[in-house]
Amino acid sequence: LSGTAITANQIDNLSVHFPLCMKNLHTAVRRDKHLRHFGRLQYGLFLKGIGLSIDEALVFWRQAFSKFTDEQFNKEYRYNIRHSYGLQGAGRNYKPMSCQQILMEHPPGTGENHGCPYRHFSVENLTVAMSALMGVEDRGVVSGVKMDVAARKYHLACNRVFEHLHEKELKEKERAGGGGGAQKETIIHPNEYFDRSWGLKH
Ligand code: SF4
Repeated sequence: LSGTAITANQIDNLSVHFPLCMKNLHTAVRRDKHLRHFGRLQYGLFLKGIGLSIDEALVFWRQAFSKFTDEQFNKEYRYNIRHSYGLQGAGRNYKPMSCQQILMEHPPGTGENHGCPYRHFSVENLTVAMSALMGVEDRGVVSGVKMDVAARKYHLACNRVFEHLHEKELKEKERAGGGGGAQKETIIHPNEYFDRSWGLKH
């Protein structure tokens, strides 16, 4: 799918392919009808990376921020969205953030939803989020994630969840001998997580 155009109304369905950080942001914007600055930046650049055009991004954010009037939206948010697509200000074309950037830069404060849940959530909140947002309840997987997190191997926790959620497809691929090796490389970018997930299911 990467590189092909997607529309604003496909995002809810596509979110089954999102890593936990982006699923968390998507859930937060649907719940709160708002996201704070770094959440908009992290999620907006990810959506751009999966193929959301600037026009569709404006549709998505306008609909998502439904508690604001058109005037408020245009004044507060439109510029920033266009800016992240390189259409305002210095015209810099921002790239989607890597796991490294998300893990290291701007830790989320109260009321913020950006960051990496494997790093920035308490163990209790992470366990709830894995279950509620990703449907991960397998005790072996959950305790493996806790071990990874305790060892500060956050991306390994994320890869463990990916492998669990795609166990069937990964096994089939291995049996068929096609691309099994490439699938074993560790995911280090949320957009890579999305691309691989999409690729395995289609
Ligand atoms: Fe997102 Fe990367 Fe954290 Fe996974 S490891 S949740 S892709 S930031």
